[in-house]
Amino acid sequence: MTLTDEERAVYEWQISVEDFQEAGQEKLKGASVLISRVGGLGSVVAYELAAAGIGRLVLAHAGDVKPSDLNRQLLMTHDWLGRPRVESAERRLKELNPRLEIVAVPENLHAANAAQLVEQVDLVVDCAPLFEERFAMNRQAVQQGKPIVECAMYDLDAQITTVIPGQTACLSCLYPEKPPEWRRQFPVFGAVSGTVGCLAAMEAIKVLAGFGEPLANRLLTMDLRSMRFSKLTIQKHPDCPVCS
Ligand SMILES: [Zn+2]
Repeated sequence: MTLTDEERAVYEWQISVEDFQEAGQEKLKGASVLISRVGGLGSVVAYELAAAGIGRLVLAHAGDVKPSDLNRQLLMTHDWLGRPRVESAERRLKELNPRLEIVAVPENLHAANAAQLVEQVDLVVDCAPLFEERFAMNRQAVQQGKPIVECAMYDLDAQITTVIPGQTACLSCLYPEKPPEWRRQFPVFGAVSGTVGCLAAMEAIKVLAGFGEPLANRLLTMDLRSMRFSKLTIQKHPDCPVCS
């Protein structure tokens, strides 16, 4: 994917990153990413990937914008209350990057649509809060050999890892079952989801352009209350029903 003069001008500052350069930018232009839910995490992932010049984004998220979305879902705006989330997201992303191709799917990912959504892309960023969705995504992406950036948050804690099928542990290795304490609505600040969203976008950019060291077999955990960051080594589970 050769760059146009306009693209060279827009991405000039990142093209000067030594191990990225114009070849990396061309890879991003030819790449497509599925973002499962464009809420607190996914909004920021999508915005950063749009800014970085990803060629195509597939956004999957059901429902309409609610007042309680606005503290963290940065692609949702007050004037779009009561209207579809994916439409708000698409409109905001196009303002930033009109060259970006967007497929807006007004559905959440589930077992029945996962295969068809994952098929369309090179990489998945999993920003879904519910384990049913995350397990369905993990199963499909591992089966299709597509890398997944897995991120999660609760209160001021967050974690992120990158799954490279065939090489690293997957979500089911980490969580053989849904954690019993997990729930749909939880305490969180937009600055927490935004922090993890930026990290997830950087992971996606590195994997797609093939530079740097993604969080493969490593789980980065963050406690933003104390600003304690640590990296834990994780391992493929020998009995994992998904990846072994
Ligand atoms: Zn596994």
